[in-house]
Amino acid sequence: MGAVVDEETGQEPSCIFCDSRDDCPHLVAVIDRTFSACNGGALYDSIGELRELLADRISATLANLQTFGEDGFDYELASIFRGAVENYDPGQPDDVYVDEQMFLAWLIEALLNAGADEPPGYIVEEGGPGQSSALTLLYAPNPSAVISKVARRLHEQLSSLKSREFGPDADEESHTQVAPEPEPIPREEPSSKQDTAQKQVDNTSRPVLIVVTDWPSGTMAFKFGGSLQASLGVTKEEMKLVQMTPERIFRVETKISETDFRKAMNARDVASGGTVLFLEIPKS
Ligand SMILES: [Zn+2]
Repeated sequence: MGAVVDEETGQEPSCIFCDSRDDCPHLVAVIDRTFSACNGGALYDSIGELRELLADRISATLANLQTFGEDGFDYELASIFRGAVENYDPGQPDDVYVDEQMFLAWLIEALLNAGADEPPGYIVEEGGPGQSSALTLLYAPNPSAVISKVARRLHEQLSSLKSREFGPDADEESHTQVAPEPEPIPREEPSSKQDTAQKQVDNTSRPVLIVVTDWPSGTMAFKFGGSLQASLGVTKEEMKLVQMTPERIFRVETKISETDFRKAMNARDVASGGTVLFLEIPKS
């Protein structure tokens, strides 16, 4: 484990209850957002059980050829279900794909709602060049009570899952759930780039560069990344990172038009990221 520092103060972060700089009884979770892993705290011992609960429920849903309604379902869990449906192999029904990044994003939010506290600052664990991680540290007077609450929330969410039979076009459905129904909307500033986008909508994947001028930090980074994937109709693996800073640039193959992409992003209400450019790479 490399040195852990708060980039805003240059200090090592400490417990907000007892001021300890080491593991203390108040540490709920140490989450590495860069590498999508829980590295410590009380959650470390419980995360496997929670993930299994989720995976088992997904597996049962898929094995019964049911899909699910997203009403009342937490955004990240819905996204995990979509990812699992898209990656489902009936030959290996127990092998359920759970997007760890989304799962951790859900856990952070659920832990905060359950009473965990996040100290201010921007915490990083320094690794070698290009290997530093962004960390989320969560504390609570009684971490196991917080985790029990989160487990209850997960149970609640999973039991509220409303199953329905797969229709004949279930596969299509799982893709169209990603973005709102495309509706023609008036174009405010027509440009040749957008016209191209409009002509090429639908069945062909086109290479696109997504440029984000101001990549968000903290838990918003998860939400923002998840929204980009969902709005583009791609998985995390399909978003090829071209450049980290100063602008974050991804290259993706997407069927989604710029109009639908922007509508889907607006619908997801992630009001950060600065300017997001959608640049189609022309076929030469
Ligand atoms: Zn403490």
